[in-house]
Amino acid sequence: MKKILVGTHNKGKFKEISYLISKKIKKVSPIKLNIKSPKETGKSFTANAKLKANYFSKFTRLPVISDDSGLCINILKGKPGIYSARWAKKHGSFFKAMKFILKKMKKKKNRSAIFVCSLSFKYPNKKIITVTGKIKGEISKSILGKNGFGYDPIFIPNSASITFGQMSKSKKIRIDHRYIAFKKLKKIVKIL
Ligand code: IMP
Repeated sequence: MKKILVGTHNKGKFKEISYLISKKIKKVSPIKLNIKSPKETGKSFTANAKLKANYFSKFTRLPVISDDSGLCINILKGKPGIYSARWAKKHGSFFKAMKFILKKMKKKKNRSAIFVCSLSFKYPNKKIITVTGKIKGEISKSILGKNGFGYDPIFIPNSASITFGQMSKSKKIRIDHRYIAFKKLKKIVKIL
């Protein structure tokens, strides 16, 4: 495998997924190929990850990797979940969506949450491979840190006492839900 299409328009995700894949493989963005994003009509992370891999595969002969991920907060019945990106749109920005979440969780004792990532990989004309990675943690009391992307500044993984947003990029990338999913995928697609 010399090249792979990293099927996402999200710059944070593109960077993280590209960082995980072997340096020997050239990572191609759908933005460079002028391919738009698909509609995320799936009802689960795995359904959306598969949908994206199938969609991007139709536009290229390259192998494709794509993810669907999000933050599930227990006390909010798993929300924003698969709607994580859409919540940010609805509220105007990630900052505003995080503010909204913190307000909803004010005085709540149970702050447990989980970041989930389903990764799908597809060779042209072959069956899709899909794996899922999860990391448990807590929602912080305020927005902390400027690193990372999305909801990183309000998520404290159980293995640390700072948010993903406060962590160095290299540390976050080596522990997060995407990394856990990628490790599973690499056991199946060793060349990655
Ligand atoms: P989608 O998979 O394109 O629907 O977008 C998932 C959304 O979940 C992203 O836009 C982020 O808001 C959020 N998200 C997923 N993974 C991460 C992460 O590692 N850090 C912070 N936010 C994330």
